[in-house]
Amino acid sequence: MIQKKTAALSDELYKYVSDVSLRELPVQLELRKETAGMPHSGMQIGADQGQLMQLLVKLIGAKRCLEIGVFTGYSSLAVALALPADGKIIACDVSEEYTAVARRYWERAGVAQKVDLHLGPAVDTLDGLLRDGQAGEFDFAFIDADKTSYDAYYERALQLLRPNGLITVDNVFWGGEVADPRNQDADTVALRALNAKIGADERVDASMLPICDGLTIVRKR
Ligand code: SAM
Ligand code: CA
Repeated sequence: MIQKKTAALSDELYKYVSDVSLRELPVQLELRKETAGMPHSGMQIGADQGQLMQLLVKLIGAKRCLEIGVFTGYSSLAVALALPADGKIIACDVSEEYTAVARRYWERAGVAQKVDLHLGPAVDTLDGLLRDGQAGEFDFAFIDADKTSYDAYYERALQLLRPNGLITVDNVFWGGEVADPRNQDADTVALRALNAKIGADERVDASMLPICDGLTIVRKR
């Protein structure tokens, strides 16, 4: 029996943690406010998660990043702000509409030159990078698009990463559904399978963090 040592976050404690530790630029806050008024706003990552991803990017000195699932750009904006001036993100999404918002905020934050947006199915973009001989050329990846393709994104990102590079996988809790074997819907089954695969994957070291909807941090060996 594993003893649970992770604190349950009451609203008061969450507010305290946010008040004492969150560092968000006005442009990030504005993007959160604009997205909050849009349909599917719940797809955006939390500000605390963005800050953690920035810390990871800085810790490993990342320069070349992959983002799979841009939406209105909060996560890519966070990563771009953490990158050095010559850093780059290949950002993948299928939606012109959502990413038009992202583009505006990359411009406003002065990081647009760091983001290379690829509109189209992310598997095609990643396969294109592999065909171009980019295997081993990336430092950091964030997987946050359609859940049934997560395994395809994971396998491609792993090839595109250098050893010691990081993959961050979002929504690994799926609102807790992954722990309920009665839930057999396609997204839940896909996330549950990838969680189990990463848990036993000898190619990587990994940690599943209870931040937002669960974030797995994977280090390529
Ligand atoms: N990371 C974003 C943020 O911080 O706001 C949230 C991403 S949202 C959960 C998922 C995104 O994946 C949507 O913008 C959607 O258009 C995109 N998407 C869905 N299917 C895709 C695919 N096959 N290839 C690339 N992007 C896809
Ligand atoms: Ca997500």
